[in-house]
Amino acid sequence: MEYSGPTDLYIGGEWREANSGETITTEDPATESAYATVQKADATDVDAAVQAATEAADRDSEWRAMDPDVRREKIHAMADAIEELKDEITMVEAHDNGKTPFEAGMEIDMVIDTFRHYAGWTDKIQGSEIPVSDSRLNYTTRDPVGVTAHISPWNYPFQLAGRSVAPALATGNSVVLKPSSVTPLSALYYAKAAEEAGLPDGVVNVVPGSGSEAGSALASHEDVDHVTFTGSTGVGKAIQQDAAEAVADVTLELGGKGPAVVYPDADLDAAARGIQYGIFMNAGQMCWANSRVVVHEDVADELVEKMADIAENIPLGGGIDDDGQMGPVVSEGQQQEILDYIETGKEEGATVAAGGGVPEEKDTGHFVEPTVFADVDNDMTIAQEEIFGPVLSIIEVGDEAEALTVANDSPFGLTACVWTNDLSRAHTVADRLDYGMVMVNETPNTWPQTPFGGTKQSGHGRAQGEEAVESYTEVKNVHVNLE
Ligand code: NAD
Repeated sequence: MEYSGPTDLYIGGEWREANSGETITTEDPATESAYATVQKADATDVDAAVQAATEAADRDSEWRAMDPDVRREKIHAMADAIEELKDEITMVEAHDNGKTPFEAGMEIDMVIDTFRHYAGWTDKIQGSEIPVSDSRLNYTTRDPVGVTAHISPWNYPFQLAGRSVAPALATGNSVVLKPSSVTPLSALYYAKAAEEAGLPDGVVNVVPGSGSEAGSALASHEDVDHVTFTGSTGVGKAIQQDAAEAVADVTLELGGKGPAVVYPDADLDAAARGIQYGIFMNAGQMCWANSRVVVHEDVADELVEKMADIAENIPLGGGIDDDGQMGPVVSEGQQQEILDYIETGKEEGATVAAGGGVPEEKDTGHFVEPTVFADVDNDMTIAQEEIFGPVLSIIEVGDEAEALTVANDSPFGLTACVWTNDLSRAHTVADRLDYGMVMVNETPNTWPQTPFGGTKQSGHGRAQGEEAVESYTEVKNVHVNLE
């Protein structure tokens, strides 16, 4: 199916060509053929988008002055528009990223839920009254921060943009969204939805472009008040420095190397199914993947066998192939990086229990076999670095203390899973894991109302939940002498 969606930049309520006349052509990773060509924003286009967003967020603007119940209906209307476009966006995402339609559909559903969740927040953004000396009234309000920048990655292009755009809008801010140049298409549907919902011009602006030019210009723009970045740790560090120019606040959602800690009393079948989702969904291209399994020696062999069996039986096929349960990875470069990690794992002495290369039956598409490594030492490269592909490392440990030490021995701190039927152990271990999110007897999972984010090199600040409302508002303290 050919792409027939939007291809222009969306700035100040207008669809426009890029000032430079340059374009980006995207590839369908399942067929390796060109899929769509969109306008490519440069620093001048980004500047125009920020100017439009600045006017839209002005104190006297229609958006800023809008009653909360009217804003609520606008955000619901965006959710309605996205729901209306769901089938189209699903196929666009499947072709642009390579994920299966099932996986893409989950992204769109999550975005609809997120917009509806934050629509409900518009009239609940409250301050507080603080007791001070006699005859004085002291209270706080929460004001919108102003212009919010959103720089999103290619692995969940629609969902990860939406999870920050929705709370930013609900709290009365304007938005400039720069999607990844690898998967720029679905982000343009936020512009369509904003248009459909009748948001004032300039409240939502979408500027696909490269990270080094458009992304950097946006993160360092002096009129941007808050930057939400979701992507790699290396780029996150650069963004934080760029944003320092404008003293802009930054939310960083970065990489991960999550452990699934499996105890001997766990339901091993349930654990294996959970780990399957946590490493092979989206072809393993997930920040919160449970890419390391830390398992007690009593059940290690059995778990390796189960994971190898699962890996060997996953039907491959992405894009429009609905029979596939795992698609290709996003690009040839990404495929090569993953294959290099697999070679490093072999060289460093890990045992390939399943997969370990390119599937023989797939001569087109950037596929990588679902791969399971056993006999992994936590110091190995494959256990320490984020591979961002369908590669699982299984590490055997002797007792609970060692399990915790190994689980926490990572530069990252995004998501950890614990598999045990001992309730007391579950809570104790959850308390001691240095991760922003801990799942007990569950694969990585999230909802719009739950905070999402990590510790250490996985970033700071939280997406979703009440925490996102705090990120996109600034507290003001008002003190009144009543005498
Ligand atoms: P990336 O860091 O290469 O790119 C992310 C975005 O930043 C893209 O839009 C890119 O164009 C832009 N960018 C690149 N260089 C830039 C620069 N110098 N200035 C400003 N913007 C720039 O990441 P990716 O490869 O698209 O995504 C994969 C990474 O994202 C993985 O590390 C993964 O763990 C992480 N991720 C984290 C989360 C989370 O919630 N913690 C979610 C998904 C992905």
